[in-house]
Amino acid sequence: MKTKRLYEMDPYQVSMEAVVKECILQNEEKLIFDQTVFYPEGGGEPGDKGCLYIENEPGEWILWTEVTDTREENGEIVHYVKKPLPVGTKIRGEIQWKTRYAYMQNHTGEHMVSGRVHEKYGYDNVGFHMSKDSVVIDFNGELNWEQLMEIEEEVNQGVDDNLSVKVEYPSRDELSGMIYRSKKEILGQVRIVIVPGYDSCACCGMHVAKTSEIQMIKILSVQNHRGGVRVEMICGRDAREDYRKKHEQSVEVARSFSVKPYEITLAVKRMLEENSRLKMQLSQVQARLAEEIMDRMEDGQRTIVLTEEGSDSILSEGCDPNQVRRLVNLAREKAVHVLALTRGNKEKEYRYIIGSGEDARVLAKEMNEKFAGRGGGSSMMTQGSLFGNGNEMEEYFKSITGEEK
Ligand SMILES: [Zn+2]
Repeated sequence: MKTKRLYEMDPYQVSMEAVVKECILQNEEKLIFDQTVFYPEGGGEPGDKGCLYIENEPGEWILWTEVTDTREENGEIVHYVKKPLPVGTKIRGEIQWKTRYAYMQNHTGEHMVSGRVHEKYGYDNVGFHMSKDSVVIDFNGELNWEQLMEIEEEVNQGVDDNLSVKVEYPSRDELSGMIYRSKKEILGQVRIVIVPGYDSCACCGMHVAKTSEIQMIKILSVQNHRGGVRVEMICGRDAREDYRKKHEQSVEVARSFSVKPYEITLAVKRMLEENSRLKMQLSQVQARLAEEIMDRMEDGQRTIVLTEEGSDSILSEGCDPNQVRRLVNLAREKAVHVLALTRGNKEKEYRYIIGSGEDARVLAKEMNEKFAGRGGGSSMMTQGSLFGNGNEMEEYFKSITGEEK
């Protein structure tokens, strides 16, 4: 006898009493019951989690273990548990209702959006995934933000209208006359979920009974995906939570800018413009300063090392590579060999530029060998990266260039 699927008959049933029919002890511990309210993962909807209780004394149930996941395997509904139970044990099972109900809200909202997109644009939902944070739908056609906002408005009207969601089990004959969305040819009994005026779809998942339970449908993002689009949306309690978090964030940002929450986009834009203007000014000042320092250096030196560390540093932090190259060229007017060292992105990483009146490639090779580096270039200028201690790099460069050959 297959497990009786109580969740299909009533998705609002939270608990059940059942008997252990099979206990599987392979890599993981799994139980199969004679009947269950636990929905097994399928159709983009995660499997239920929950708790199992056993009867300690007649009428007294104590917690036995958690159900960490529910899946359908070889046509059986298996409950993943942390502690097994012998066949024949009577149990009480209870699903994590808060999570399940959020999935029901999101799943029904997804039906309405997919159904309306299909009706208006003829696109199919070719991928669907629900997680803790959002619902992701892939459509096989392109939709822009304005079109999706129109869809959002329409489906939320359906939420306001408090429509009854129907589940039908049509015969093969009845089915042949029905128009419904379906991802694949289904063998056996087909379950059709109908949101009147919005969607008719073959689906085995869990849905709410009335559309007002969805509370609201909010589309969060759209991006191009495999010739179509990937749409992210959220419904019900999850949407409320999302709104709360985003509201708190926008209030905080607004406060730090001393503007109203609706003005933060403008405030951020202004700050970014100001920021890039300041950056440009700073880089001009830094360049001028570096040139002046360089001007005062004495001519005819053997080696100059430019770094961004220490009080006498000539390179400013985050100095852009073009500027470093320009400074190396200026320093070359004062010395035969020049090394510029700037911090890389990785730990202990330095970027180097070597300018030389002899052969920069020979110097780069020696530096690369000594400091696990890589890079190269022309005889006049080389560049690359090194790993290790900046002071040691400086000392080593001086030692290999110090004496005239
Ligand atoms: Zn469904």
